[in-house]
Amino acid sequence: MGDLDGKAALVTGGSRGIGRAICLELARHGARVAVNYQSNAALAEAVVAEIAAAGGEAFAIQGDVAEGDDAAALVKATVDRFGAMDILVNNAGITRDGLLMRMSEDDWDAVHRTNLRGAFLVTKAAMRPMLRARGGRIINITSVVGVMGNAGQANYAAAKAGLIGFTRSVAREVASRAITVNAVAPGFINTDIISDMTEQATTAVMGQIPLGRIAEPDEVAPLVAFLASDGAAYITGQCIHVDGGMVMA
Ligand code: NAP
Repeated sequence: MGDLDGKAALVTGGSRGIGRAICLELARHGARVAVNYQSNAALAEAVVAEIAAAGGEAFAIQGDVAEGDDAAALVKATVDRFGAMDILVNNAGITRDGLLMRMSEDDWDAVHRTNLRGAFLVTKAAMRPMLRARGGRIINITSVVGVMGNAGQANYAAAKAGLIGFTRSVAREVASRAITVNAVAPGFINTDIISDMTEQATTAVMGQIPLGRIAEPDEVAPLVAFLASDGAAYITGQCIHVDGGMVMA
């Protein structure tokens, strides 16, 4: 028996990287998982197949988190399929890096759209079933960059810092209904998002990681599963780092 047995979870951006690892980990703990993706249907279906092969339950669902109708449809599909909406992981995120002087309005808007507006819309849609159930878990995947800043990522850092403020505000709004809202801030994790970093940038980053290495996605997922569990019922409004010690506060 897992500690999330029968719980209904929705993970945005679950087809690849950290989101994929979170889907697999939640399923390993017994949760039923809606695996959202934007364009990579085959990868999302592969995550579903992996969960099913291990005896779990999941389905894939396409949707752009930053579109209001799609965000509502993701939550509706989860509730229709599983009869509840217990755990929401706002993980979908993109980067459009560039120094501020050369950053286009499109690059600024695209990152805010997915990383911040997307979390707002899906969280808002999930609120009604969670309030009705008088319980729920919302976990927002932010980044160390939202705390430390990073040259070349002003758009991303601003959106991720915004997500931390969003987390704390919503945590205060819904605490009386036993819904917890927390943020997880990964450091540098080995996924597609960091694959186009130059060797020079990678070397610079390594120098900032006390544990001296980049992490794998399955090193982030266990914290998310814990925050989703009953054991984390008294933790809300927090931003917890999984970053090899990059930020120590
Ligand atoms: P990734 O490998 O690039 O995967 C991104 C995921 O988000 C994919 O599943 C993608 O779907 C989905 N996605 C993108 N835009 C979407 C949208 N508008 N609507 C729905 N889904 C969308 O990224 P990752 O590295 O795993 O990052 C996951 C989260 O962790 C992000 O929020 C990121 O900012 C954060 N993070 C990552 C790192 C890191 O070092 N990797 C560090 C700190 C924080 P498709 O497959 O269909 O494209």
